[in-house]
Amino acid sequence: MITPAAPTFGATASSSPSSSTRTVVVLGASYGGARAARVLAQNLPEGWRLVVIDRNSHFNHVYVFPRYTILAKHAAKGFIPYTNLLDVPPATPTSAKAKDICGSPSRPLTPPMSPQSALASLSSTAIPSSASSSSSSSDSEGYGHSFIQGSITSLTTRSVSFVRPNASTRRGSSESIASIRSNLTYGCFDGPEETIHFDYCIYALGSGMPDPVNVWSEYPVAPRHIQEHPPSHGLGTKKGGIAWMQRQAEELKSANTVLIVGGGALGIQYATDLKDLYPHKNVTLLHSRTRLMPIYPVEMHIAIVERLATLGVNVVLGERVMTAPDHAEHYDGKVKHLLTDKGRQFDADLVLFCTGQKPHSQILAALSPSSISPTTGRIRVTPHLQVSPRPTRPVTSRANTLDRLSNITLRPVPPPSPPSSSGSARPSGEFADVFEEEELGHIFAIGDCAETSAIQAGHTAYWMGEVAARNILRLIRRDEGGEEEELEVYKPGVPAIKVTLGLHHSVTSNHEGVSTSDKGAEDLQARLIWPSVGAGDLDDHA
Ligand SMILES: Cc1cc2nc3c(=O)[nH]c(=O)nc-3n(C[C@H](O)[C@H](O)[C@H](O)COP(=O)(O)OP(=O)(O)OC[C@H]3O[C@@H](n4cnc5c(N)ncnc54)[C@H](O)[C@@H]3O)c2cc1C
Repeated sequence: MITPAAPTFGATASSSPSSSTRTVVVLGASYGGARAARVLAQNLPEGWRLVVIDRNSHFNHVYVFPRYTILAKHAAKGFIPYTNLLDVPPATPTSAKAKDICGSPSRPLTPPMSPQSALASLSSTAIPSSASSSSSSSDSEGYGHSFIQGSITSLTTRSVSFVRPNASTRRGSSESIASIRSNLTYGCFDGPEETIHFDYCIYALGSGMPDPVNVWSEYPVAPRHIQEHPPSHGLGTKKGGIAWMQRQAEELKSANTVLIVGGGALGIQYATDLKDLYPHKNVTLLHSRTRLMPIYPVEMHIAIVERLATLGVNVVLGERVMTAPDHAEHYDGKVKHLLTDKGRQFDADLVLFCTGQKPHSQILAALSPSSISPTTGRIRVTPHLQVSPRPTRPVTSRANTLDRLSNITLRPVPPPSPPSSSGSARPSGEFADVFEEEELGHIFAIGDCAETSAIQAGHTAYWMGEVAARNILRLIRRDEGGEEEELEVYKPGVPAIKVTLGLHHSVTSNHEGVSTSDKGAEDLQARLIWPSVGAGDLDDHA
């Protein structure tokens, strides 16, 4: 059950599901959360409902965003409807189902480079899924699994609060309901705050994307492009996303001189795509280190530098931008001047800052500050992906300073307690949270926001989503009187990546080594990630 808030600004009204229904929530439905949701929807036992919350109405397939912000004619393929995400398969005997999903943790469910081809979809409003409600027939109130488009605002150990997009408009202005503005969604989500109680939670809010591919730019206030061009169909919608991509593509087409700051995969992809599509443009890639993609074999660096040279991209390595004017990322006909640490000046019509992804851990941090690594800002997890208020990665005698720093936890010192007439020794307020945060084994964190030894990638988030979902299913079976099963340990594979080097070229590094290809598709085959059955014409899903 989901209820609106009491009519007080910022107040949370809480509601519990009926006594017969228990709840798993998945926060964030991208590569990690969507996979976890799919595994849970297909395997939760009767009496359990799944609620998935994301601020986007559609799955944002960000792998293709750099390409589509240049070639916006493909934009619609990057926003995938959630129509079948929570579909429940035809009934199978419970024992067979349990064995299938949990019996073989090492089964290679995930192709190394690509998440599942059948990610997708359900409607963008919170409706009980007809398919799933039949599987939750013990739910006397008829709630099945549901997807909610909402901006998550806070978390407690047993509940999550969120606001829906422009709910006051949707529900009619005559209705007097207090609204709350989410700082994370620039007031586009301004409905009453709603709260859902949960038994288990998967926190999969990922990280903020670098600015050129970030439809949700990470600014404390609405970023300039949103202030100047308020999306007619709202942030978090497919139409808003397509319009944003079209504006980016127009600006990139207009700029003659483009400076790309940051030589990670994103900067390399932009530099090569822009120069391949617009050979007359002056494109410069500036990177602070002397080696590109340093965690991969040196052959990768060589293949990239060779391709950049062939295309005629200017490459500057080992130089760092120190000063840049405001709004350099927009084309406005004025030349932008940037200075580096070597004292050189670079001029450009437009600058693409392809640096800095920040984990979206702030909502969990408010609940449990000591669960956040001070060095990475990611959420500490156990090997089973449960949130941990303490460091969990072993520090060896050879650990470097950063590893050691990330293993430090500073605990808040409680204020001296006033003498208590009742004689109770239990502290209250902030200090009480210190006790609560020890009990977070029912909250899992996965994907870009989780602190593991895996690289930040869609395929690692996907795999973590499976492990977390299977571990929750194990805990549920234990809760319901089944035998105690050992939880599965998440084991990251060898770092793997594919980087495009122009419209058809790419370089891949994986467990087989480094290889190149010149057979890539212009739209990067986004269709592969759409549901293989029932997607129909992509344009039907606007
Ligand atoms: C341009 C680019 C290309 C990439 N290409 C590849 C690739 O080819 N292969 C690969 O493996 N990886 C690739 N990556 C990395 C990959 O995209 C990320 O590692 C991956 O997206 C992480 O997935 P996630 O599920 O952890 O979180 P995210 O994808 O970051 O998703 C988090 C979800 O949480 C939602 N959310 C966040 N905050 C809130 C809130 N307050 N309320 C409600 N919802 C919220 C978001 O809407 C989003 O749906 C690429 C990254 C970029 C930027």
